[in-house]
Amino acid sequence: MDEFFREIMVRPRPITYEGHPSDRVIADYLAGRLKDEWRLSDMDMLGRLMKGELGEDWRLSEVSLHIMTCKTCAEKVARLREKNLKRRMR
Ligand SMILES: [Zn+2]
Repeated sequence: MDEFFREIMVRPRPITYEGHPSDRVIADYLAGRLKDEWRLSDMDMLGRLMKGELGEDWRLSEVSLHIMTCKTCAEKVARLREKNLKRRMR
């Protein structure tokens, strides 16, 4: 478990996920609406995260971890952040 985090924190590298947070989850993440609850010390939870089996049930740390290691979602979040920023500046 600790090994897993050391790996991804020290050398962030892409992980191939079988599922990704939905647009709604990403929107909630960007709006700061996700619960900040740490569930990743649970191996079962971590397995579900890797397999993309969380459905709509994501926590802040899980989305952060996913985005850090998933290029597709990182790009999506970057695009949305930019869009939100432009909207706010108008
Ligand atoms: Zn993703």
